[in-house]
Amino acid sequence: EERLSAPEFTSNDIDTEYSLRPKTLSEYIGQEKVKENLSIYIEAAKARGDSLDHVLLYGPPGLGKTTLSAIIANEMNVNLRVTSGPAIEKPGDLAAILTGLNANDVLFIDEIHRLSRSVEEVLYPAMEDFAIDIVIGKGPSARSIRIDLPHFTLIGATTRAGQLTSPLRDRFGVLFRLELYSPKELAEIITRSASILEIPCEYDGAFELAKRSRGTPRIANRLLKRVRDFAQVLGDGAITKEIVSVALSKLEIDELGLDLVDRRMLRMIIQNYKGGPVGLETLAAALGEEAVTLEDVYEPYLMQLGFLARTPRGRCATPLAYAHLGILEEGQQLS
Ligand code: ADP
Repeated sequence: EERLSAPEFTSNDIDTEYSLRPKTLSEYIGQEKVKENLSIYIEAAKARGDSLDHVLLYGPPGLGKTTLSAIIANEMNVNLRVTSGPAIEKPGDLAAILTGLNANDVLFIDEIHRLSRSVEEVLYPAMEDFAIDIVIGKGPSARSIRIDLPHFTLIGATTRAGQLTSPLRDRFGVLFRLELYSPKELAEIITRSASILEIPCEYDGAFELAKRSRGTPRIANRLLKRVRDFAQVLGDGAITKEIVSVALSKLEIDELGLDLVDRRMLRMIIQNYKGGPVGLETLAAALGEEAVTLEDVYEPYLMQLGFLARTPRGRCATPLAYAHLGILEEGQQLS
């Protein structure tokens, strides 16, 4: 079943994901602190004629990590090579990629926490000394030779920096945490996307959509495309506040962007566990979801809304969550 407000990339995003990607730092909306520092590092590296330091980007899916790495390569005037942790199966696969890089190129590894241990070990000397060690032969006659690599920039992406082993994490010179976007920033992204896709869009409509996009540009762009269909059939094609409200209520996404899964999770904490605390694993099992998915994908937005609190003893629903779902807290009277 398709979950419209899931932040992970799906086949529905393929047609527009590329055209909607900003190509320069100045087109990249929000994440001001990251952009500010990054532009300095890029300028300095270019002035030295050297590669940019290795960069670790972390944060929930759909916030612009892949986009940012393409922008870095573009601003550095170098090539970008994109791969992912699960795609690199053997040490030799990574060695082939590394030896194919040109000076100062950017290698982007998505889901870098999923590299196997043996592949990760190839990365250590590559990142530190720009070299790889290759073992030739077998048994007693085996020997290791060192191959020099051009200087390159590794950009790793992961949902949480804590998922990386510390030897890998320590080899990144720059760590950036991407934050959920504010409704105002998302409205800007939606307005930009609408103009690229030639969809007439009122600011009130963009802002209404922004409020329901869970702080995530990928979801904002996806909902924009979906609402366009409603606008064409129910209206004159323009994205207005009214059209957004009608469309999203049909899609069962509420005023704050929560969908059935979010509401089910909050209701479960409130009704089955008296509002919490309930342990993450227990909650995940009860909902039939993976604990990491709850933690990395659902919880950041619920916490940003102030609906969920993480305590040492487990997850708690806050009074705001009760109010949003229209459920009375224990001891509370109908007023
Ligand atoms: P991630 O790699 O973190 O999962 P992506 O870089 O693939 O996310 O971004 C998803 C989509 O969101 C992209 O197609 C891009 O159009 C859009 N996007 C992400 N960040 C921004 C931004 N800061 N400004 C404008 N659009 C963005």
